[in-house]
Amino acid sequence: MSRLSLFAFVLTCAAACRPSPQPASPAAAATESATDAAAGGLTPAASGRSAKREAVETTVFHLHKFLQRIGVERDTYTRDGAGDLEAKASFGFQDRGSQVTLAAAFRLGPDGLPRDYQAWGRTSRMSTIDERVTREADGSFTQSRVGEAPVHATPPAAYVIASGYAPILAQDLLLRAWVARGRPATMTLLPAATVTIEARGKQEYEVEGKRVTLEHVSVRGLVWGREDAWLDDAGRLVAVVTRDAEFDHFEAAREGFVALLPELVSRAGADGVAWLSEVGRSALQGSAGLVALVGADLVDGTGRATVRDAVVVYDGEKIVAAGPRASTPIPAGAATIEVPGSTILPGLWDMHAHVQQVEQGAAYLAAGVTTVRDLGNILEFVTGIRDTIDAGQGLGPRILVSGIVDGDGPRALGTVRIKTREDIAPVLDRLKRAGCLEVKLYSSIAPSLVRAIAEGAHRRGMRVVGHVPEGMNVLEAIAAGYDGVSHVTFLFDPLFAPGEAAKLSREARGRRIADADLEKAPLAQVIRAFASKKVMLDDTLALFELMNHTADENARREPGLAKLPRELRGLFDGSSPAQAALDGAIFERYLAMVGELHRAGVPIVAGTDISVPGHSLHRELELYVQAGLSPMAAIQAATSVPARVMGLHKQVGTIEPGKRADLVIVAGDPIADIRNVRKVTKVVARGRMYDPAELWRIAEFTP
Ligand SMILES: [Zn+2]
Repeated sequence: MSRLSLFAFVLTCAAACRPSPQPASPAAAATESATDAAAGGLTPAASGRSAKREAVETTVFHLHKFLQRIGVERDTYTRDGAGDLEAKASFGFQDRGSQVTLAAAFRLGPDGLPRDYQAWGRTSRMSTIDERVTREADGSFTQSRVGEAPVHATPPAAYVIASGYAPILAQDLLLRAWVARGRPATMTLLPAATVTIEARGKQEYEVEGKRVTLEHVSVRGLVWGREDAWLDDAGRLVAVVTRDAEFDHFEAAREGFVALLPELVSRAGADGVAWLSEVGRSALQGSAGLVALVGADLVDGTGRATVRDAVVVYDGEKIVAAGPRASTPIPAGAATIEVPGSTILPGLWDMHAHVQQVEQGAAYLAAGVTTVRDLGNILEFVTGIRDTIDAGQGLGPRILVSGIVDGDGPRALGTVRIKTREDIAPVLDRLKRAGCLEVKLYSSIAPSLVRAIAEGAHRRGMRVVGHVPEGMNVLEAIAAGYDGVSHVTFLFDPLFAPGEAAKLSREARGRRIADADLEKAPLAQVIRAFASKKVMLDDTLALFELMNHTADENARREPGLAKLPRELRGLFDGSSPAQAALDGAIFERYLAMVGELHRAGVPIVAGTDISVPGHSLHRELELYVQAGLSPMAAIQAATSVPARVMGLHKQVGTIEPGKRADLVIVAGDPIADIRNVRKVTKVVARGRMYDPAELWRIAEFTP
């Protein structure tokens, strides 16, 4: 769901408008029936070494996103006269109106080692792949990617080729090689990486009336973080639970095993969070129990001025005292930690999260984020992680769950749907039972149902937030009962008559936003509507900043980009140089809008929609200061304001006796320079202190 907004609504998306390489065969297009043709139609260097080929195997994987079936991948294995095995994958799926197709071919020698590999097409709605790996006569390899300099590598004796986020065939071949080579702990991935595969036990499942035993393994090093895969007793891939290149939940199951996916997704979440908390012990610091932090400045989140030379005492999960050293005694028996030259802030909140993988928990804590609002997920996956963390067993921030609901149509997402009036009560009851605090409406909800959904949600004590559904504008959404809106971009939709935006050129749409006057209709009405009903906005400015600026500019603005795990680099291309001037002007309007809303008394809350995990939350606060908020107000937008709108302000969000011991310690003074929020030196979540550098390493980031 991250960055979905760019395609559905944002009028400025550069990536969407850029042509992307497509499989050469026109047949490699939309439909499932075409995927056979696509596999046959690809003629990479990998094929054609020998005319006579013997069919060995065909495997069909059903592809899912958020457990919703979206397409199919067909893998064919053939062997030539020389004993080389060629494996070709062809996949096609529909994701929210976008067609994603990819073709890939691997050739393995009789020794099982790869000879060459080629992949061509899209790996997600917003990422493309066009790469080739070839083995040279001297045994070395060349990896060529369009737009990048070739990489030459000489691998050690055993190695594998895989392509990151897609296709599923790459993972099947990787795991078959792992089994064939006697299950080594790690394998070398060309050109220069390591894949770690760990057995996570065998379980029995019932599928289509038969009992089967599957082996669960975790794979790290192909995509960011850990993927979960299940193998049959022949060592062949049965299912994968992972994410795609947009960070969205992505699942694949071999024909005959689709019914197992919900159970496997739950197991992946539970096992992942158990694994992470094992690994996370290395990041724990200091003692639990009674702790006094001494000598830092205190910004307590209430809006009161900074207290210089303060003492903050917590006992287990609760803060017991906070104030100036002179008037705040340190209790006998407290472990005293001197933190001069730093500032203690309440633990930060990310009000637009999607916890799709457990590593995010480590990244969030490392960034000082101790509470997140999950705005869309597989319900069983995120509630499982939430409950584990609530029980004190996981590693990660506290998770507040908003249940995502979509309607009908080609762009609809996920499996929780309200298509008719009759669906409303059962869906809302299900979300309430799952402990959701909010209902998040997505883009394909029928506008005619929004008021009834809002009334039903409010009766059940849940708020209504999210996207403004297609066919509705933000003023109508607020009138129908919205309590909060995600993404500042929706606030500019009333500049366009119904249906008009789709007919305008990208340039014309962008110009209208860039030239919009916030003091005139319709935007002045939008500001009034938010202010009069105190509707909350999670603007996701940092996300739009990344989308509306070039890669070079983004590298300058967001230092976190330089610290990303290898697998995530290159996913943040941003605007093209040709469009950067207009995109930048549009972004300036977004900033101005957030400033105006704040001055009008609208609750603004910091949220990232993932973006650059952890780091983008800091960027949100920097952007708030650019938008005209004081540094104090920016900090409150990620602490006390979200706590208040979520109705949790009596428990958390400020540093006061009785509140949850969720704290972040930063070097320097973020009130003097908001950029100091990035300098996190210690994080305390529910009374446990963590070393952020170690947490970043666990999350596979450079600290
Ligand atoms: Zn989102």
